Amino acid sequence: MKISTIKDAVLDFFFPNVCVSCGKDVDDKKSVVCRDCIDKIEYIKPPYCLTCFQPLPDGGAHCWQCRKTKYHFEKVIAVGRYTGILRKLILKFKEKDFLKTILAGLLLDTLTKNMDIESIDFIVPVPLSKRKEFERGYNQSGLLADILGKKLNKMVVSDNFIRIRNTSPQFELSREQRLINLKDSFFVRDPAEFKGKNIVIIDDIATTCLTLEESSKILKKSGAGNIHCLVLARD
Ligand SMILES: [Zn+2]
Ligand SMILES: [Zn+2]
Repeated sequence: MKISTIKDAVLDFFFPNVCVSCGKDVDDKKSVVCRDCIDKIEYIKPPYCLTCFQPLPDGGAHCWQCRKTKYHFEKVIAVGRYTGILRKLILKFKEKDFLKTILAGLLLDTLTKNMDIESIDFIVPVPLSKRKEFERGYNQSGLLADILGKKLNKMVVSDNFIRIRNTSPQFELSREQRLINLKDSFFVRDPAEFKGKNIVIIDDIATTCLTLEESSKILKKSGAGNIHCLVLARD
């Protein structure tokens, strides 16, 4: 373990009441991010694409991509833009799993505002490959899904939808390359469990929505009902 990592861990343990984003004191002793920083998140407000949640500054119902694409999900629901404080929190979440509570809280607020909670059967995190999960120690989407499941009293299913192939990082690939990269990377172990069930899938960031689409396609092929995608940030 590097000295800086040990120092971070010690500081986090003894001084947890400091905002992880700006370093200022946090009034609420249980919180890890201050109110000012939470208020600075660039939440997505209308008008946005009714399918993929992409902000549409010029108005309209759908973005150009969604006008020409038929997705297997009903829609994407996102907390905010992948910028500023939200981006910072998502990046920090890769090392600091205690951020799960605040991030899951943001997801919960956004979900209840945008969806009929009664209609949800299962919450399913987008799986990481076994190798990635081992390297990181946890699946971030899984941690968020677990908290949401508890708060909403919904079942979280994280062992039936799995990643069977390691994919290269998506960010440096074109849309076509991303599609090839994702092909055959997901698998449903027991389709009977998902049959007719309405599912909310959880991921951290939606950029092209291709991971969400590939996940939805595989879940639908396994007989799932409606799929909604809940993400922290829309890039
Ligand atoms: Zn702050
Ligand atoms: Zn769209």
